[in-house]
Amino acid sequence: MGNLTYLKGVATLQMDEKKCTGCGMCIEVCPHHVFEMNVKNAMIINFDACMECGACRQNCPSGAISVQSGVGCAAAVIGSLLGRNGGECCCGPRTDETGAQKSGGCCS
Ligand code: SF4
Ligand code: SF4
Repeated sequence: MGNLTYLKGVATLQMDEKKCTGCGMCIEVCPHHVFEMNVKNAMIINFDACMECGACRQNCPSGAISVQSGVGCAAAVIGSLLGRNGGECCCGPRTDETGAQKSGGCCS
């Protein structure tokens, strides 16, 4: 999934590197490999691959990540145009067996 581009330049994803403790959870849960570990903390390496599922924000223990979940979800946009699901994103975070929230569904 190295060259994946979801929607160019529209994601609301932001990361505050000063707050990041380098725990690696965002790397673990992101389905589109948006983050990579730098020496001490995570960094955004593939901004346009972000589908705004919100899994990284919900799993970041230090509040270093902000993203408006669902805003750039193509399925939500198409659903809205078709008058379905009220434009809601259907790929929101889900919980796996360890309790970590992961994205899934139509966009992953
Ligand atoms: S919002 Fe979802 S796709 Fe975007 S960086 Fe976070 S986990 Fe990855
Ligand atoms: S989940 Fe938060 S604290 Fe952990 S590496 Fe990612 S940005 Fe840093």
